[in-house]
Amino acid sequence: MNSNIKDMVWVFAEQSNGELADVSLELLHKAGALAKKMDSEVSAVLLGHEIAELANTLFAHGADNVYLLDDKELKDFRSLPYANLITKLVEDKQPRIVLFGATHTGRDIAPRVASHTRSGLTADCTELKIETLTLRKVEHTDLLLQIRPAFGGNIIATIISPDVAIQMATIREGVMEMGEADPSRTGHVIQIPVKLGPIEVAVQIIEKHQKPSEVNLKTAPIIVAGGYGADTPEKFQLIKDLAKVLGADVAGSRAAVDAGLIEAERQVGQTGTTVRPKLYIAIGISGAIQHRAGMQESQKIIAINNDPEAPIFGVAHYGITGDLEVVIPKLIAAYKSQLH
Ligand SMILES: Cc1cc2nc3c(=O)[nH]c(=O)nc-3n(C[C@H](O)[C@H](O)[C@H](O)COP(=O)(O)OP(=O)(O)OC[C@H]3O[C@@H](n4cnc5c(N)ncnc54)[C@H](O)[C@@H]3O)c2cc1C
Repeated sequence: MNSNIKDMVWVFAEQSNGELADVSLELLHKAGALAKKMDSEVSAVLLGHEIAELANTLFAHGADNVYLLDDKELKDFRSLPYANLITKLVEDKQPRIVLFGATHTGRDIAPRVASHTRSGLTADCTELKIETLTLRKVEHTDLLLQIRPAFGGNIIATIISPDVAIQMATIREGVMEMGEADPSRTGHVIQIPVKLGPIEVAVQIIEKHQKPSEVNLKTAPIIVAGGYGADTPEKFQLIKDLAKVLGADVAGSRAAVDAGLIEAERQVGQTGTTVRPKLYIAIGISGAIQHRAGMQESQKIIAINNDPEAPIFGVAHYGITGDLEVVIPKLIAAYKSQLH
């Protein structure tokens, strides 16, 4: 690393079994935009064992430097060693910003590191910006605007931490866009020695059982989502039928999940998955802000709702006002007729 260049924007590069979490790569792209405004570099913090080659992927997605902490004690994630090592590194290097994915791991480590380093931390941000602000006649440079829904999603709050040196945020998977990887990018790997005391490694992992999720809405090109407008299993079946004809994945609003019409892992929105498919068809979904937060970046949105005033029409590119029990069979018939 060139010692004249500021190294102020960090991303925790989460990996499991040698595979990087998508959210870490998404955050690197966002970190690049933030760092540009701060005239800084982007660094990734990578912990694990025998994972050095992941640095190339991190460089390709925007890291200029990778702090590599490689030790057999770090093979599997454990809260204490991971949090303590990151804390020591943050205390030593004093970055201005540290970003974590809002995953189980990120949500475990971020508050520990923030608390130990007395940093500001905002969870589940949906947007991040850099600004210089004057508050009470004091100028604060490189302030991280941590933007997220608050009060049950009724307002979008901008949270700042002007009185601390280090600003941290967690961001959920899919919220930030993963830009293109550039395999020609390179950077610096900085090896950090790993020293752990007996208390930090007191918790031993005896066995690991992992059940990979069979649902991956994030990569689905077409999603047909149903809401509480399809309030019976029979009506919801129409949504599944349309998805089948279109070769789409099925998703739902939280109200549909709460009513047991669809599995929780298929929920789209603030407390579900954030998706950006080529086509999102929202059927019987009112378009509450918490739902829109998870789908409004879709390339094309079609909404079907019997209420012409439904807020979903505000984000839809095409809208059909009508009863889903009438509209869906017509759509299925029309699509099938095009196939023959
Ligand atoms: C902290 C918090 C987090 C949340 N997170 C999420 C989240 O992640 N995802 C999410 O979706 N919600 C979330 N919610 C809930 C959200 O506020 C809404 O309550 C929910 O999205 C409503 O779901 P819905 O639109 O399916 O149901 P409703 O609001 O009941 O809307 C049903 C819609 O269907 C239409 N309709 C009814 N009958 C028909 C018919 N026969 N044909 C066509 N249209 C019909 C109605 O006009 C209406 O617009 C969250 C709420 C909070 C407070």
